[in-house]
Amino acid sequence: MSLTRSDFDQYMVPNYAPAAFVPVRGAGSRVWDQNDKEYIDLAGGIAVNSLGHCHPVLVNALTEQANKLWHVSNVFTNEPALALAKKLVEATFADKVFFCNSGAEANEAALKLARRAAIERFGEQKHQVLSTLNSFHGRTFFTVTVGGQPKYSDGFGPKPQGIEYFEYNNLDSLKALINDNTACVVVEPIQGEGGVLPADPAFLQGVRELCDKHNAFLIFDEVQTGMGRTGSLFAYQEYGVVPDILSSAKSLGGGFPIGAMLTTADIAKHLVAGTHGTTYGGNPLGCAVAGAVLDVINTPEVLAGVRAKHQQIKAGVEALNAKYGVFKEVRGMGLLMGCVLADQYKDRAKDVLNAAAAQGLMVLMAGTNVVRFAPSLVISDEEITTALARLDLALAAFVA
Ligand SMILES: *Cc1c(COP(=O)(O)O)cnc(C)c1O
Repeated sequence: MSLTRSDFDQYMVPNYAPAAFVPVRGAGSRVWDQNDKEYIDLAGGIAVNSLGHCHPVLVNALTEQANKLWHVSNVFTNEPALALAKKLVEATFADKVFFCNSGAEANEAALKLARRAAIERFGEQKHQVLSTLNSFHGRTFFTVTVGGQPKYSDGFGPKPQGIEYFEYNNLDSLKALINDNTACVVVEPIQGEGGVLPADPAFLQGVRELCDKHNAFLIFDEVQTGMGRTGSLFAYQEYGVVPDILSSAKSLGGGFPIGAMLTTADIAKHLVAGTHGTTYGGNPLGCAVAGAVLDVINTPEVLAGVRAKHQQIKAGVEALNAKYGVFKEVRGMGLLMGCVLADQYKDRAKDVLNAAAAQGLMVLMAGTNVVRFAPSLVISDEEITTALARLDLALAAFVA
């Protein structure tokens, strides 16, 4: 059977617009397409392939578990889930973990828990959810509505209620909305999809203080910023601001679908048996892989490597930019980086993406005006050097 990109248009729901080439295999930070053309991967499956493609430790964890036990449902617990929960608790502020299969589900659980705990403690009126404009929390109807981007949430009929929006990095705009009926405030420590925009430390600290003042839970959506991406295991550790509830996914599974919601024992106790659930959450295969991902990432060497690679890529991009003047800012933390296009090239991130692909380089967009990198946390120096050489050719073609 010969399969091509045009089969996507024939057989698949048209909610995506995938690239013209079809990747067929990967190793480390290299990927090959159907024509055996090689790409360096700075996209990382959108901050998912935290250890690159087919990392031997992950392949081993997955195949070992595949020969042992795939699925038992939550009618029974299982050893990989117990081991992963224990590791996450030991590495973070959290006492308790809930597993699911994606970032949206982790946020859905976080929001439901926050509302449930707030209502049980203070009464039915305490259900207001406050979120930042231009954020991204997933595509379930609750999470996409909380994201505050009408282009994603409009057109599906009546929306979940009780959600209001404030401006990112603007404490006064939160102050104007927060009150004693606020159940929770949801923040990405770095707005990922919204343009790789890091929070000001004083803003996050201020959000924490306002939450405390009004007995509102602080939820950090670390689906994109977590699992070593910023150079700390989670971005909250980098900022020194501790949330009440944290969501993780993407890099947690290194490419195997898994999500997790972390919280304290005091809050977790509001989700008693039967109040929430998922068939696959805590699946042995996913948890075995994520356990191996965590073991590899949560070491001083790998986390220090993330900071060093940030510097290396940033210096390289800035040197290229001195030549081409394409970007006005390179921002982000660790290996979540955004290159903001200069006014002259405004909203042409897609053209940079296509120019990069032509040269054998996979990059991402974050909105229409930011070129985003979210590569493997263990991308090698050689892979970075090759990526920058290809970016050089791509930018030359882009400005020509
Ligand atoms: C990707 C992302 C999500 C959604 O995760 P899915 O696995 O696609 O459901 C939620 N929040 C943030 C910050 C994300 O980057």
